[in-house]
Amino acid sequence: MPMRGAVIHRAGDVRVEEREDPAILEASDAIVRTVATCVCGSDLWRYRGLAPVPEPVPIGHEYVGVVTEAGAAVRSVQVGDFVIGGFLHSDGTCVLCRKGAQANCLHGGGYDGCQAEAIRIPNADGTLVSTPGEPDAVLIPSLLTLSDVMCTGWHAAVSAGVGPGMSVAVVGDGAVGLCAVLAAAQMGAEQVIAMSRRAARQRLATAFGATAIVAERDDAGAARVRDLTSGVGADAVLECVGTESARLQAVASVRAGGQIGVVGLPHGEMPTAELFWRNIALRGGPAPVRAYLDQLLDLVWTGQIEPGAVFDLELPLVDVAEAYRAMDERRAIKALLWA
Ligand SMILES: [Zn+2]
Repeated sequence: MPMRGAVIHRAGDVRVEEREDPAILEASDAIVRTVATCVCGSDLWRYRGLAPVPEPVPIGHEYVGVVTEAGAAVRSVQVGDFVIGGFLHSDGTCVLCRKGAQANCLHGGGYDGCQAEAIRIPNADGTLVSTPGEPDAVLIPSLLTLSDVMCTGWHAAVSAGVGPGMSVAVVGDGAVGLCAVLAAAQMGAEQVIAMSRRAARQRLATAFGATAIVAERDDAGAARVRDLTSGVGADAVLECVGTESARLQAVASVRAGGQIGVVGLPHGEMPTAELFWRNIALRGGPAPVRAYLDQLLDLVWTGQIEPGAVFDLELPLVDVAEAYRAMDERRAIKALLWA
C-alpha cells in the first residue's frame, strides 16, 4: 500500500510523493499514523543548499499521531494511543539513555522521513509517550512542539544552567529561540532578553515571558545586553541559530563566568581562547527529548505553557512545498502540516 510523504530532491525542491507504507521490521517497532508534522529550521539547511542532498531522500523528523501497529515486544504504548516522540529514537535502556543522554543512545537514530502520512518508529518503548487521553484539536500544535522545538529550547536553558533570579539572553527568534524564551521564563529567570528584529516574533517572545527585546545585533546588540545586566552581560545565553555570527553574538553577550547553552546546528567556529580567559562554560547539543517529555507534556496538557503559538502557518501535507517556501522566505516562523 502506498502512502504520501515528503521527499527532498535538491535544494529548493521538496515534493509529496507516493511512498511505500511503513511496516514493522523489528519487534520493538511501532507504526504511527501521523496526525500532524512540521518543517524544522534545521530542514532549511538542505533546502537552502547549505547542506548537501546527494540523492532524493524522505525528510522531516517531528510528529504526533496515533499508534496503528505495535511490534510484539512493545509494552509502553498500545494501538490507538495518541503519541509524541522526539526527533531521534532511543531505546531507553542503554547505559547512555539511563544517564539521561537519550539523544546519544547507543542504539538510537533518526527516522525515514516524518513529513509523511505514516512513520515507522524504532525503539517505540524508549521513544514514544502517550498523552493522558485523546487531545483536543487545539492542543495538538503545542504537543507537536514537544517533538523538537520546545524540548530543544528547554535543552538550551538546561545546558546554560538557567535558574531563578538569573539574567538570560536568547540569540535567535525562530521557533527554537522563542521556545527557549518560554523555557527560561518557566525556570524562573528574572530577566529574559530576546534578541529579535521582527515585530511578530518580538510580540510572541513577550507573550512567552521575555522582559526585554534587543533589536540590535553584533557589537551594538552585545552592548544593549550589557546595558540591561549591570554592564557585564547575561548570566546565561541561549544560542538557538547555529551560524557563526549567532555563536559570536552569544559569546559577546554572556558575562564573565557565565554559561552558554548551544542548540543551533553548529556552523563555524567558537572562540575557545576567549571562552577560557573569560571563564565561560559552553554546553549543549541535540536535545535528549525523552528526558524532558514527561515534564513538558504535563505543562502543555494542564495549560501552563502554550508553545504551539510558534506555528503561524498550517497547511495540509500535500502543500509541503509551500511550507518550505514560507519558512525559507521568513513569511512563517514555523509551518504545521496536517497529515
Ligand atoms: Zn539508549
